[in-house]
Amino acid sequence: MTVAEVETRANRPSADVIPCVAPATGESLGEVPVMGPSEVRLAVDRARSAQRSWAVLSVEERAERLLRFRDRVVERADALVELLSRETGKPRQEALSHEVIVLADAIGWVCKTAPRALAPREIELHLMKHRRSVIEHVPRGVVAILSPWNFPLSIPFGDAVVAWVTGSAVVIKPSELASLIALEVKKLWDESGLPEDLLQIVTGYGETGAALIDAGVNKVVFTGSVATGRRVAAACGERLIPCVMELGGKAPLIACADCDLERTARAIVAGGFANSGQACISVERVYAHKDVHDRLLERVVALTKELRQGNPDGAVVDVGAITLPRQAEIVAAHVEDALAKGAKLQVGGKRKGGKGTFFEPTVLSECTHEMSVMTQEIFGPIVPFMRVESEEQAVAMANDSHLGLNAYVFTSDRERGRRLAGQVSAGSVVVNDVLTNFACPEAPFGGVRQSGFGRVHGEDALRDMAEVRHLSFDRIRPPSRDPLWYPYSDKAYDLVHKGMRVLFSRRGVLGKLKEIF
Ligand code: NAD
Repeated sequence: MTVAEVETRANRPSADVIPCVAPATGESLGEVPVMGPSEVRLAVDRARSAQRSWAVLSVEERAERLLRFRDRVVERADALVELLSRETGKPRQEALSHEVIVLADAIGWVCKTAPRALAPREIELHLMKHRRSVIEHVPRGVVAILSPWNFPLSIPFGDAVVAWVTGSAVVIKPSELASLIALEVKKLWDESGLPEDLLQIVTGYGETGAALIDAGVNKVVFTGSVATGRRVAAACGERLIPCVMELGGKAPLIACADCDLERTARAIVAGGFANSGQACISVERVYAHKDVHDRLLERVVALTKELRQGNPDGAVVDVGAITLPRQAEIVAAHVEDALAKGAKLQVGGKRKGGKGTFFEPTVLSECTHEMSVMTQEIFGPIVPFMRVESEEQAVAMANDSHLGLNAYVFTSDRERGRRLAGQVSAGSVVVNDVLTNFACPEAPFGGVRQSGFGRVHGEDALRDMAEVRHLSFDRIRPPSRDPLWYPYSDKAYDLVHKGMRVLFSRRGVLGKLKEIF
């Protein structure tokens, strides 16, 4: 079956509950309700009434209170790790370091930074010196967060903290594949003494997400696939709701001839197989310079063979399960397509038998842009290699993509790293490291081209989560009759015209005077 055929197959049982299944074992973890439009509207209404009293608090007070939520997250880290690992199939170490710690750290940075970043500030007007302008950041109201299943803690709740600190309430529509963790965090939120209704969780499939956009929310933060992103952006456009689109990625890794071979090989393995390759910033394609290609490939294959894959529940594994069974079929179809077009299978390549959904960590070589594995988002544990003749070719191939979220460059020469980073077209370019940029709450994160628009993280995203309001005051008592107001006359026109010539003349003082006389 081709990638396109698998992708277009329906992915949802028709029911009014979502069965929650552990991907590593196939065991049932329970079920959650599919919420309809009236329940979603009720959740938005509740959030809106809680928001009114939250919005009147100062940013400092909100930040102080939000730290109590972080306290609960840190206290209950083990329970969160356990559930994350069960529900998504990711190793416990990744659940701790990629989710719990990333969230706890983001809360700290947001709470520390927000009072300064959101403080009203006066700006100097270059022309209207007689007026005083103040820019302030006011709460939007209710922010809808629609999230995917791959990082179901750090992504939605990281965005939620930014919304809360700016004075908004939050309604989260978690992925249908990771709703339990969202409901567990809701319990922690309620225990932390913050206004309970400031956080609402609405569970369901895509229709529930669509109902949320239609329920009068004031901003949408969407993280998910390009296909769903198009629908969500269109729905927001219809209603003129501002939105941030965090969509797919196809991160290239350029291995220069002078790269540290061991670090680059380990980075490819960590960046390609962490979370079973189900990260929007996973290493999805490697362009290795011909002088280093063979040695690098050999080392990556050797390291891949050492990886321990299996059920992360109660055991230490390096690579866990594929969260979505259908995703394993998509991954298999990418491998099949690549092999049919001349790629060489170096290691892995197939689904593992037994309970649960596992796909072997896979390395392919001799790949080209004729293959879907090099051009479409894989979202699974495959690292395809392509040999390149030069840096120029590597950059050209890296930029030959409809996606542009993350990119990686490996070189021992700082100057070369800086130069190549500037030539690759992506929202973030990371030199000699992988995956870490999402864990920097102060650095803007987001994509170019079909990877989306808008940014999460960083001070700009913090300010953007609020409405910006310009207040304009008089500095000196204004005249009762303003010369620019009615009645208009030829004399007033001449005066304004002369004023314009003086103002925009590029000549010196004498020249400016000549404009008048
Ligand atoms: P998805 O697009 O299938 O679903 C995302 C969310 O949207 C889910 O909660 C889903 O129920 C909801 N949804 C579906 N249809 C909807 C509709 N019509 N209206 C409103 N909501 C709707 O994505 P996924 O499979 O859960 O996640 C994987 C994708 O997410 C990958 O493409 C990955 O690259 C991307 N992703 C991007 C980032 C980023 O920051 N750029 C981060 C993580 C994942």
